[in-house]
Amino acid sequence: MSCTAVVPDLGAYVLGALAPEDRRRVAEHLRGCADCRAEEAELAALPGLLALVDPADLSTPSIVPSPDLFDRVSAAAARPAHPTRSRRRLLLVAAALVLLFGGVAAGVATWAAREDGTTVSASAGAAEITVTTSSGGGGTVIDVDVAGLAPSGECRLVAVDGEGREHAAGEWTVDERGGGSWRGWADVDADAVIMVVLQDGEGTPLVRAPL
Ligand SMILES: [Zn+2]
Repeated sequence: MSCTAVVPDLGAYVLGALAPEDRRRVAEHLRGCADCRAEEAELAALPGLLALVDPADLSTPSIVPSPDLFDRVSAAAARPAHPTRSRRRLLLVAAALVLLFGGVAAGVATWAAREDGTTVSASAGAAEITVTTSSGGGGTVIDVDVAGLAPSGECRLVAVDGEGREHAAGEWTVDERGGGSWRGWADVDADAVIMVVLQDGEGTPLVRAPL
């Protein structure tokens, strides 16, 4: 798996918008590639930036992109093998275009407009987790801060509903200090979530945070 195959997916990766198998593919590459990890770190601010988008601006789109705009932008973003300023900017644009014009504009608006949610902290051994859940995008938005994990390992977040069903909420690479802050999303009603579980890359529970 080369960098050029991974870089175009990084935007969607930090947004938690990749299909599980693509997410695994990207996470696997990130473990072994410092360049792409640096790129991921740059993009990590993207969900927060998109949350600043004013929903009113989305409900009355003033520009209509040509059908091949995204293809051209992502092709341009994929061209150089390693990070440059302009490519990073293109990546941000590409990721934003996916969100704004990929049929999920309504989800972004809801996401941006979400109200303050429920925040809980939990720990188990050295691992600590603080999660905030709220309604957004037709499901549950989960902001998570973790610390005390194995450095540069993989972790997953799962939302558990009242009937014990697990809903995948995101999968990320832990930073060199064993921590990280991410925004995940699960396809389950926020009111139905009774617990958020942090798992390692193999799906073994590390910390359970009852809401
Ligand atoms: Zn790479």
